[in-house]
Amino acid sequence: MADPKKDIRALTRDDLKGYFHEIGEPTFRADQVYEWLWQKSAQNFESMTNLSLELREKLDENFVINHIRVDQMQRSEDGTVKNAVRLYDGKVVESVLIPTDKRITACISSQVGCSLDCHFCATGQMERMRNLNPDEIYDQVVAIHNEALELYGRPLTNIVFMGMGEPLMNYKNVLEAIDKITSPEGLGMSPKRITLSTVGLAKMIRKLADDEVKFKLALSLHSAIDEVRDQIMPINKVNPVNDLLLALQYWYDKTRSKVTLEYVVWEGINDRTEDIQALVEFAKRIPCKVNLIEYNPTDDDRFRQAPSNIIDAYSHALGQVGVIAKVRRSRGKDIDAACGQLANKNEVSKQD
Ligand code: SAH
Repeated sequence: MADPKKDIRALTRDDLKGYFHEIGEPTFRADQVYEWLWQKSAQNFESMTNLSLELREKLDENFVINHIRVDQMQRSEDGTVKNAVRLYDGKVVESVLIPTDKRITACISSQVGCSLDCHFCATGQMERMRNLNPDEIYDQVVAIHNEALELYGRPLTNIVFMGMGEPLMNYKNVLEAIDKITSPEGLGMSPKRITLSTVGLAKMIRKLADDEVKFKLALSLHSAIDEVRDQIMPINKVNPVNDLLLALQYWYDKTRSKVTLEYVVWEGINDRTEDIQALVEFAKRIPCKVNLIEYNPTDDDRFRQAPSNIIDAYSHALGQVGVIAKVRRSRGKDIDAACGQLANKNEVSKQD
């Protein structure tokens, strides 16, 4: 049965002030509770020791804290850790901790499943079940930060929205979560260390620019030719390449923040000279860098990673017009934690 109590983290600080006022408590209680809920990630009211026992009980009668639970933690031989995260309603998403010498990056999910249908992505083959709430996004970051300290003795340094789901289809909750992650009242992380990766929704990229967000943007381009992109990413039919380019130019004009273009090269799909040329033409027209991502095989055998000489040809052609291209090795492949492999493989049977 659904819990009739309200999730207290859905309330703003002002909502909380209103509540305490209503029950005849001083409004500074709102600040105390807010700090417990966000900065200290309290998982129950009992632990809020600067409140009277009576007040803690009252809160417990009226509210719940829908904290996520890490059900399963898998560790890859390369140090990558994948969490299966159970939400209050039993649904499961995945988040990944990626350690390197200098950084610890959290790759987090924004939706349960995904409504897009990118043919090369395992998450895309799942149904989108629902958006994550801001606190569910925030909790994934806290969980990974704690694991980073525990396993590597270092704090989390970067966050990428490259887990399950399309963050711009859960715009409001993702921005609210980032607000909490960057606010001194939450984790106080710099927005420059956060990257939102999108499939490319032109209208929403413009909205990000209008909202003057301070985090970074990555676009999953994979082809700069409509006929090719239409075939692998059906969303391209309503967000064609040129619309994306114009949206990115708008983004750059407003934010002055370089975008990252994510690009996988597949045999027989985007490995021709004209594919390379189209990307070069695109990249020339917007301040950007290109990440050439290694393909992580999913169940679809139409997609095969192109050989390294083709990747080199891409890097070289981009370099010639002054665009930096980095080849990204994938991490955590042995535990299905790499880009596009998140599909709750171990958990899927347990979902409703
Ligand atoms: N929906 C967002 C974020 C999730 S996907 C987006 O589309 O950007 C994160 C990144 O992984 C994207 O760049 C996506 O194109 C890439 N990706 C998806 N499936 C992949 C696969 N099988 N191998 C490598 N990268 C993949």
